[in-house]
Amino acid sequence: HPNADYRILTAADVPAYLAGLPAIAGRLGGQPADWTCQDVADGNLNSVFLVDGPAGGLCVKQALPYVRVAGESWPMDVSRAFFEFSYGQRIAPFVGRLAPAIHHFDAAQFIIVMEKLSPHIILRRAMIAGEHHPRVPEDVADYVAAASFYTSDLAAPFESKAADQAIFARNTALQRISVDLVFTDPYAVSERNRITAPLEAWAASFRADIDLKAAVTRARLTYLTRAQSLLHGDLHSGSIMVTQAETRVIDGEFALVGPSGFDIGNFIAHYVMAWYAKPFHESGATSVGVFRDHLAADIVLFWDRFEARFLSHWRGFAGAADGLPASHFSGPAGAARAETLRRAYVADLFRDALMFMACKIIRRVLGFAQIADFLVITDEAVRALPQAAALAFARSVLLYPERYGDIAAIVAALPRFD
Ligand code: ADP
Ligand code: MG
Ligand code: MG
Ligand code: MG
Repeated sequence: HPNADYRILTAADVPAYLAGLPAIAGRLGGQPADWTCQDVADGNLNSVFLVDGPAGGLCVKQALPYVRVAGESWPMDVSRAFFEFSYGQRIAPFVGRLAPAIHHFDAAQFIIVMEKLSPHIILRRAMIAGEHHPRVPEDVADYVAAASFYTSDLAAPFESKAADQAIFARNTALQRISVDLVFTDPYAVSERNRITAPLEAWAASFRADIDLKAAVTRARLTYLTRAQSLLHGDLHSGSIMVTQAETRVIDGEFALVGPSGFDIGNFIAHYVMAWYAKPFHESGATSVGVFRDHLAADIVLFWDRFEARFLSHWRGFAGAADGLPASHFSGPAGAARAETLRRAYVADLFRDALMFMACKIIRRVLGFAQIADFLVITDEAVRALPQAAALAFARSVLLYPERYGDIAAIVAALPRFD
């Protein structure tokens, strides 16, 4: 255990725990005996409890000293809760209500107490059910644009980013997960990979594909070296909670200072996988064709909105920053040249995003952490059909990036067979 006081909370312990935090527990109303507590952990790593009282609800998230889905045989540093809390604090001024309010961090128990999101549901679950939440792409684009602009060298003296690096460079346990599970294991023989029998030949061909591994090496080196901005680090449809009216980004425990395209690409990857999986789901709220029309439009909407917001934050920025000194670009010629630089920066983000998108698809098909979009297809031979198609698409993006010069090219490459 991480320290002598640390103990793993169960649902039965949570009311007494919150009673010890009267300022926060006041949000619940009533007495501990009136509170109900539900264990809702469905992520890979942590314990999560939802508590309801007569006046309101709270969410209590505790880092366990191991990977929840793997058990005690896979130890994991509990300080991830500190990094999730610190990330939330750092980006709150930029993203506002697009993230849940954080009420408390317990540095001994590695517990975060935050706003209970209700009736919000996890976007991935909504997508599997065939529901469309039209605000999500633009809300997440606004979130990523603000977080990736205001924590970058474009919006502050470099000392500000250095301070973030001093904190988040210590989040090595979760960065190790990304390095191993995203960039390494899918291209190697690893006990952690969960390759189904129908995909064995795909996995073997990926392990033997030196061109692919060279492209993935570019991606991993970009992840390791391109310190552009503070990232969420795990920004997929399982880290987004939605209603028809609201979007909230949760679960920032993988935070790092890294390439801004990592979050962008991760978000798009999970829309692409939803695209491939959808025809194999039980028919949900919407037909496959209509659902896919929504996904295609949403992928374009997300990128276009991100680009517009990021550029408008940058164009409107009047403070001191070391990335693009305004004094170097005065007058009409300077303004035009600054705009050229801004557009080149965003074009780089797009290329990085596609590279990371592809890596994120491959790791979700061949690697350890599989996703429900595919897993709900119970017959592995059937599941392998959309998974193999997604692998082929990801490989194409990594090997032939010049074919994917804009977001329309990505959407155009998604097959229509419905
Ligand atoms: P993990 O790090 O283990 O993936 P998450 O932060 O993703 O944990 O949370 C796991 C689950 O708990 C989410 O999928 C969601 O269903 C629920 N959850 C997390 N945070 C909240 C919240 N603030 N309000 C309501 N439910 C939440
Ligand atoms: Mg999660
Ligand atoms: Mg996760
Ligand atoms: Mg998590």
